[in-house]
Amino acid sequence: MGGMMALDAELLEILICPACQGGVRELEQEQGLECGGCGRIYPVRDGIPVMLVEEASEPTPGAQKD
Ligand SMILES: [Zn+2]
Repeated sequence: MGGMMALDAELLEILICPACQGGVRELEQEQGLECGGCGRIYPVRDGIPVMLVEEASEPTPGAQKD
């Protein structure tokens, strides 16, 4: 019996974005956690969230001005 296991809700509550300390939410269509603050998307590998800024996908390249 396969199937993906959803991340534990309690785990999600304690996870924060290391870049902005925002809360994260689980994406439904892809494996990942999206920060509600800065929009970075953190990968989930083997069911374990990888909360590292250098591993995160940055939101909409080009949207930020320098
Ligand atoms: Zn963030």
